Amino acid sequence: MRCFAGSCRYVYNRALALQKERYERGEKKLGYSELCKLLTQWRNSPDTAWLADAPVHPLQQALRDLERAYSNFFAKRAGFPRFKKKGRHSSFRYPDPKQIKLEQHNSRIFLPKLGWVRYRNSREVLGTVKNVTVSLSGGKWFVSIQTEREVEQPVPQGGAVGIDMGVVRFATLSDGTFIAPLNSFKRHEERLRKAQQALSRKVKFSNNWRKALARLQRIHRRIADARRDFLHKASTAICKNHAIVCIEDLQVRNMTKSAAGTLDQPGRNVRTPSLWRERAKSGLNKSILDQGWYEFRRQLDYKLAWKGGRLIVVPPQNTSITCPCCGHVSADNRQTRDRFMCVKCGYENHADVVAAINILARGLDELKGGARPDGLWIELHRQSEAGTHRSR
Ligand SMILES: [Zn+2]
Repeated sequence: MRCFAGSCRYVYNRALALQKERYERGEKKLGYSELCKLLTQWRNSPDTAWLADAPVHPLQQALRDLERAYSNFFAKRAGFPRFKKKGRHSSFRYPDPKQIKLEQHNSRIFLPKLGWVRYRNSREVLGTVKNVTVSLSGGKWFVSIQTEREVEQPVPQGGAVGIDMGVVRFATLSDGTFIAPLNSFKRHEERLRKAQQALSRKVKFSNNWRKALARLQRIHRRIADARRDFLHKASTAICKNHAIVCIEDLQVRNMTKSAAGTLDQPGRNVRTPSLWRERAKSGLNKSILDQGWYEFRRQLDYKLAWKGGRLIVVPPQNTSITCPCCGHVSADNRQTRDRFMCVKCGYENHADVVAAINILARGLDELKGGARPDGLWIELHRQSEAGTHRSR
């Protein structure tokens, strides 16, 4: 499986290098089918004959992944495609369900060039298999099975809610409740630091180095697991009781742009909402918060869709300094981090709750103007209004 993942990485990187060379020479980018023809040549060439040992479909999928990386880049959804590094996200995907056999009662799966492989079931696989991804994480191999099935059109249940994301409070709801942040990273921080130090003292690629690396990866994995569990519980709880969830847009586009920078202004920061400011203050690991936020948003999105609900993303400007009562916008409204007091009308509340109320109002406005002609929002609006007044 390591070999297969390595072959996929090789194909991806070689195709990316080729595309880059062509670009520098001023030539057109090769399409997927042209890359596939090259792949056949590589598999037949004596220099890279080992490529023929890997199943061909996953290798083609690596080329598809590269295609997608390019189109994400062109659509400004992501940065320029990067070379894949050994030992990071090792995985390969079988796209053809005809070649896959799944025996759930025996807990085994048949995959091309691997044969029957036993697995430990985490949950029942429902529907027909569409594709299978095999991946390595924290020293363990995982199989993800994507399926397709018909489901009843769900009826959305519950009202609308706005959510403000933060560091001090992970999520504050417009009804005044909030979800405290997960502090497992803090607990693991010391162990992580020690494991990192231990690794740096070892001779690279020695046996002891490998052992230290495995220990470090285990800690990383535990942190990741704890975070995933936390995010799933939080997003499930919110989606269970609400049909419409409004949330601030953190603008992935601007972020990738700022991270990569331009030729004139390398690494310029275009960051807006309160989360980033707080993060700068708290000095927490950047990637850890980033991942949590996007993963949370992703989970909300699909879990709401499952239940017939909807996630609305609103522009983040001024949500924390606008008075939800009279609409007065001023930085003076927010005297401290926690306290909001309108300098015009005297309305008072927790600053995060105020932001959540504003986010909800913007989301509902967007819904009114947007294409959803079914009267659902009217009912929701009434419910959320009641909720907002209660919290006031
Ligand atoms: Zn006011």
